Amino acid sequence: MLTEATLQSVHNETRQGEAYAPFELDNNLYHKKFYIESYGCQMNFSDSEIVASILQAEGFGATRNYLEADLVLLNTCSIREKAEQTIRKRLTEFKKVKDARPGMLVGVLGCMAERLKSKLLEEEKLVDMVVGPDAYRTLPGLIEEAETGQKAVNVMLSRDETYADISPVRLESNGVSAFISIMRGCNNMCSFCVVPFTRGRERSRDAYSIINEAKDLFARGFKEVTLLGQNVDSYYWLPPSPKGVCEEASNNNAVTFANLLEMVAQVNPQLRVRFSTSHPKDITEDVLHTMAKYENICKYIHLPVQSGSSRVLQLMNRTYTREWYMAKVDQIKNIMPDCGISSDIISGFCTEMEEDHKDTLDIMRYSGYDMSYMFFYSERPGTLAARRYTDDVPLDVKKRRLQEIVELQGKLSLESNKRDIGKTFKVLIEGESKRSSDDWMGRNTQNKVIVFAKTGGNLQKGDYVWVKVKDCTQATLLGEMIN
Ligand code: SF4
Repeated sequence: MLTEATLQSVHNETRQGEAYAPFELDNNLYHKKFYIESYGCQMNFSDSEIVASILQAEGFGATRNYLEADLVLLNTCSIREKAEQTIRKRLTEFKKVKDARPGMLVGVLGCMAERLKSKLLEEEKLVDMVVGPDAYRTLPGLIEEAETGQKAVNVMLSRDETYADISPVRLESNGVSAFISIMRGCNNMCSFCVVPFTRGRERSRDAYSIINEAKDLFARGFKEVTLLGQNVDSYYWLPPSPKGVCEEASNNNAVTFANLLEMVAQVNPQLRVRFSTSHPKDITEDVLHTMAKYENICKYIHLPVQSGSSRVLQLMNRTYTREWYMAKVDQIKNIMPDCGISSDIISGFCTEMEEDHKDTLDIMRYSGYDMSYMFFYSERPGTLAARRYTDDVPLDVKKRRLQEIVELQGKLSLESNKRDIGKTFKVLIEGESKRSSDDWMGRNTQNKVIVFAKTGGNLQKGDYVWVKVKDCTQATLLGEMIN
């Protein structure tokens, strides 16, 4: 699912996130250094951890300082034009360093790889390597090739690559929460989205490798895992069938997303489970009942609506109407009255009229989103929308509508937080508050951030505590620990 927004969002469907650099590994063990920055969705951030693992096996240690790196990698996002511009600017900065240090290699990974490979390599000569999301295993060979001065490229998409056997190196980890990639690619064809073209067909990862990764993380002290995929609800894994077993019998062993969720929840009741992103058409009642059944499956769903207008939704090829989406919200609230819901919203999609925009504002109020990732439409080359429709909503109109959406979301978030004042939540401590070392920061099951004073107790990050909400801002609950 595309949450540029949910691209940290891992949804996310696809959303734009921040660049980051990895924490230092024990660099005494490594003879070369790599530096990596990731942009876009949580899937990209998760992929960078797979890349780090592959590089580590090749003798590369991580550095936060690209000036001392032998290999500089940008894991890129194509979801918005702005993301591409940011990456291009960054590559130009790296080029200057590279000119002064000719031995340094620069590579582009991820979603921009396929679309811009020849431009980046040949025309602008900004990079030495271009590697698509399904080709990370070939990085060692590509690095060798690039070291000889050749341009190294592999942007082949795969029908079965899931990196199931690669144990990710946790980058920028707080030691409490980790992502587990459960599937890759997407079979939907939302007309605004590049993901089906940049990440290929959907494939689900071996369920047992997922469970083993969750067990390993818990054994290492992690307390929360987020199961990641572009559209996690269509997860479907068939164990290899033993010889002589007919297809029908084998299908009975299929693992659905609801099954997988239950299996991960059973790893340990102290391990919280989240997931992202859900396409509204694919999230099943089974999934909702499984969430309700297990206390450690967080009561939070990222359910991107994109637009509140049935006409626009049809043009977006979202395959649901506004009424259908609203009924899905009702179903969630019926099964889990305390479930938090967030969304992705695009303003100014092709042909969007004022009444369509009003429908979007209306569905936001109806759903009562706790949070949304909000963008104005930017046409992406190669998508169905770019081929079929005219990007005809003027930029000032897109921006004005987006502003109205952002303002409404601000009100909804504040109202939602105010309703929590006086309630007590179980909170997983993620670390110190950024604003004060006297406070802890954690999240409740609904994914809301709660800040509270470090009074008493010998607490540390990764502990669960009960916190009573006393006050709030639009973005944060402010509470007090309960003994
Ligand atoms: S095609 Fe649709 S469902 Fe798939 S990643 Fe893009 S927005 Fe999400």
